[in-house]
Amino acid sequence: LLQARGLHKGFGSTPALRGASVVVRRGEQLAVTGPSGSGKSTLLHCLAGTLLPDAGWVSYDGHRLDGLSADARTRLRRVHIGLVLQFGQLVPELTALENVALPLLLEGRRRADAAEAARQWLDRVGIAGRADATPAELSGGEQQRVAIARGLVSSPSVVLADEPTGALDTVGGEQVVQVLVKATRETGAALVVVTHDHRLAAWMDREVVLRDGQTVDTEADA
Ligand code: ATP
Ligand code: MG
Repeated sequence: LLQARGLHKGFGSTPALRGASVVVRRGEQLAVTGPSGSGKSTLLHCLAGTLLPDAGWVSYDGHRLDGLSADARTRLRRVHIGLVLQFGQLVPELTALENVALPLLLEGRRRADAAEAARQWLDRVGIAGRADATPAELSGGEQQRVAIARGLVSSPSVVLADEPTGALDTVGGEQVVQVLVKATRETGAALVVVTHDHRLAAWMDREVVLRDGQTVDTEADA
C-alpha cells in the first residue's frame, strides 16, 4: 500500500535518514522504534508526503509521491492518509467537534455531514461529551483522542501516528493507544505508529527498527 525505498534526508549537515526502507501492507499494524534522533519522525513525514526525501522514493498504491504535483500530494494525504501527530497540533480556536470536522470540510463535504461524521467519531473515541470544548479546555488524553478522531474521520487507508503516548502517563497513554489500535482495526486502515514504548510495539503485527537513519531489518522487507 505504502512503500519507501532508500530514503535519504538531511537537515543542513545533519543526516536524519540514510537509506531507510519500509513497506506497509494493506490493513497491517506496524511499529517504528529506535533511539531518539534515529529518524523516526522524519521517516513518518516522508511517508506522509509532508517532507520530500533528498534521495529515494515513497509510493502510495504504486504512485510515486515525487511524481505528483504538490496539490495532488496534498489531496492524497487528505483523502487516503490519516495523520495523528503529538498534541499541540489541534487548531486552538476551534472546538473538538470543529477540529474533527475540518478535514472533511477541506475535502469539500457539506457542513452538516461533516459535523455529523465528526460527532460519530468523537463518540467512538469516547469523548462525545466534550464536543464543544476547545483544546485548551481538554486534558492531554482528551486532546489525543480528538487528534485520533481527526486522523480517522476521512476514512483513510493508512494512519500514520507519531508517539501517541509520548507526553502522557502510562495508563492514560495506553488507553489512548488502545483507542487508536481498535479504531484502525475496525475500519481496516493500516497503522504505522512511531513509539519508544516496547509494549506498544509488541501489540503490532510487525516492528521496524531505525538506527542512525537506517532501517535495521528484523525481517526481509521486500
Ligand atoms: P525522537 O525519538 O526524539 O522523536 P526521531 O527518531 O523522531 O527522534 P527525528 O526527529 O526524525 O528523530 O530526527 C532525526 C535527526 O534529524 C535528528 O538529529 C534531528 O535533530 C534532525 N532533525 C529532524 N528534523 C529537523 C529539522 N526540521 N531541522 C533540522 N534538523 C532536524
Ligand atoms: Mg520523533
